[in-house]
Amino acid sequence: METIDKSTDRIIEIFAELNAIPRCSKNEAAVRQWAKLWAESRGFACKTDKYGNILISVPGKDHKPDAPTVVIQGHFDMVCEKSPDSDHNFTKDPIRLIREGEWIKADKTTLGADNGIAIAYGMALAEKNDISRPPIELLFTVEEEIGLNGAIEMENDFFRGTVLLNIDSGEEGIFIIGCSGGKNIKLILDIKKTAPPPAYETIAIAAGGFTGGHSGIDINKNRKNAIRVLATIAASLMKQYPIYIAGFSGGSASNAIPRDAMTIIVVPAAIKNEIKEKLDEEVDSICKALRKIEPSLYIKSEFTAVPEYILNKADSGKIINILCAFPNGPISMSEDFENVVDTSCNMAMVCFNGNKFEVLASARSPHQLGIKEVETSIRAIADMTSADIWTEEGYPGWIPAPDSSLIKRCMKVYREISGTEPKITTIHAGLECGVIGSKYPGLEIISFGPDIEGLHSPFERMNVASVERVWNFILKLMCSFAREE
Ligand SMILES: [Zn+2]
Repeated sequence: METIDKSTDRIIEIFAELNAIPRCSKNEAAVRQWAKLWAESRGFACKTDKYGNILISVPGKDHKPDAPTVVIQGHFDMVCEKSPDSDHNFTKDPIRLIREGEWIKADKTTLGADNGIAIAYGMALAEKNDISRPPIELLFTVEEEIGLNGAIEMENDFFRGTVLLNIDSGEEGIFIIGCSGGKNIKLILDIKKTAPPPAYETIAIAAGGFTGGHSGIDINKNRKNAIRVLATIAASLMKQYPIYIAGFSGGSASNAIPRDAMTIIVVPAAIKNEIKEKLDEEVDSICKALRKIEPSLYIKSEFTAVPEYILNKADSGKIINILCAFPNGPISMSEDFENVVDTSCNMAMVCFNGNKFEVLASARSPHQLGIKEVETSIRAIADMTSADIWTEEGYPGWIPAPDSSLIKRCMKVYREISGTEPKITTIHAGLECGVIGSKYPGLEIISFGPDIEGLHSPFERMNVASVERVWNFILKLMCSFAREE
């Protein structure tokens, strides 16, 4: 293990400089100021929009008169995660870079290569005077990691470029040419609480240890939703016995596949042991059936104190029906790309909120029609159960254009440089490309980047050899824009 020598390479040097400035989402002012000073000291025009995104305009070098202006785009902010044994303070401590062979990592924290490497590439490119390049604009956004906020709030005519390179994808050799849009949708049911009938007892059931994962990226991996599994068990018991629901909760975030859920059921005392046995049987067979895809799954149940309130019979049935019928998982697959989900829904969180029962879901699709399909399903369930719907405005997707001249140019340059064919695909998650593209009709966009592993975790690391290869690709691409048709 050795600490990085700051003189090794200009890109890594800029990256290290950037990493000395804390930059969690919503805390980008200092890093923005640093970029501004960098631009001013080199005579580049620099402007900031009202939300805090910046644009630095860099003249071209040795280019044909009609070369397009190319936007190099990345986000300033980083996810701030650290190991439990780290005392790193993300508001004031620099991220420390550690070199391990070909890799750079941080000291028990996220590295911020997502997306500091885009900024380092952009600045290094602007500083490079011995190449042909078209005019470039460096577009650095804020608050990407907490909902693409900077891109959403960016003014419509902020930049002039007609081609945008988003350097925020962490796998070399893969060109991302499309992404899903998304929308959070909540179903809200008014419920009536009532006192439990006499001679009833209570069983608490907790399900946990599910694999979970990102509700977009991991939705094609057949992972089970803890809420759905528990609702299925409750539905089966409800069919056979007169039971009531006194509680149901699960999930932790709209963009995570739920890993835990719990419910409280109230059962007739006279047959409580029979019901418990039936429940144990059910649980046993579910755990056996899911052993392969959910190896750490557990479902525990125990008798507990009778609660003060329960749901009446009708509402008990309604909420279990809602949780069993709710759209969840992939809904359709892409026609153009293998193993890529087109439209999906993640039944993400369930809770009681006063006299309301709420189910929060995250719908994803590259096109509005897909989002609408999910919304219509949820609306239908709401109609059938007299529930209400609340929806977010959401963010737009990015519909792939594999035949665009940008994609063809990138593929040609990549082939020339590497001798291999790049992989073209889309991702089932939101990228700034979708949001920015929706504001600039006709803008050609691609997303790529060097190899970065362990994103958003203290295991994040970046491959230096890959940084160099992608740099060579960028230089050759610039030359192509500057000189070729
Ligand atoms: Zn990123």
